[in-house]
Amino acid sequence: MQPIAAPLLQWFDANKRLLPFRQEPSAYHIWVSEIMLQQTRVAAAIPYYERFIAALPDPAALAACEPDALRKLWQGLGYYNRVNNMQKAARIVCEQYGGDLPADYDALRSLPGIGDYTAGAASIAFGIPVPAVDGNVLRVFARLYNDDADVMAPATKKAFTVRVLDQMPKATPGPYNEALMELGALVCIPGTPHCEECPLADLCRGYAAGRADPLPVKPAPKAKGKVPVTVALIESEQGLLLQRRPARGLLAGLWQPAAWEKALTRDELTAALAGIGVQAALDEPLPPAKHVFTHKIWELGGWKGTAPACVLPDGYVWAAPEDLAEVYPVPNAFGAYVKAK
Ligand code: SF4
Repeated sequence: MQPIAAPLLQWFDANKRLLPFRQEPSAYHIWVSEIMLQQTRVAAAIPYYERFIAALPDPAALAACEPDALRKLWQGLGYYNRVNNMQKAARIVCEQYGGDLPADYDALRSLPGIGDYTAGAASIAFGIPVPAVDGNVLRVFARLYNDDADVMAPATKKAFTVRVLDQMPKATPGPYNEALMELGALVCIPGTPHCEECPLADLCRGYAAGRADPLPVKPAPKAKGKVPVTVALIESEQGLLLQRRPARGLLAGLWQPAAWEKALTRDELTAALAGIGVQAALDEPLPPAKHVFTHKIWELGGWKGTAPACVLPDGYVWAAPEDLAEVYPVPNAFGAYVKAK
């Protein structure tokens, strides 16, 4: 393969998007943006990014943030363990590195929630010549080399990482990494790539072979188990009944309408609510909804109703509308029933 850096960087200079995290590309800004972009499209992530950075402008602010406030800032992005890990990492950064992310790949890589890719991306800020290989870059390299190895296999990722590094210009590793990501996001996109606009079209073996579309090769996704969830959307004069999820596991520590991970009849749901002291009248079935996690699918349903306000056990609250909007982070999984902001 001939060198790709020159045409790639020339294209990047002329075509890169003016994104907020490119305006002051500190390691902290890149870190926050990359964690958000692992799960969200750029356009959707920008308002979250701006709000997050305004509230928590540096690792010290992130380290000190109260957990519910942190999850509230993340509400809507999902994968809450990622922001929990960011906070753990920020605390280590404050304790061990004086509040600034370390300018060292291995030190970055050792922080909670920072893998090879994120450490590589954060290294952009320091000009460290390490690769940042994400799904975009794997797709570009599978097509460039017309390689139909399974890109989800660790051995393939390792081999592709060597190619990314071989092609890296030593003087401009950061722009090269960014340019590869940008090419994957804008031109060498999933599905049918825009090869006619690509600065690497003359070098691309996949394009020459007419095989760009089916690459990269990935294993068929595993079937996800379906889990019924019965939701009780109960209002009293003090607000909506919310329940805190367990401190560990799926959606740890977040708030949700009272819900049970099983199919309950109306009578069983009434009895379950009575078990926490809520004497509810369930008068309207909730429309069925679905939420897809990486490993399972929730099939949601349940009942809407009212109840007299009462003293609730630990882990439950009556949330007034303003607190629902400002205080309690409610996951998107319940978005069909609760608009929490
Ligand atoms: Fe991707 Fe097409 Fe460019 Fe090859 S020519 S890198 S397939 S966009």
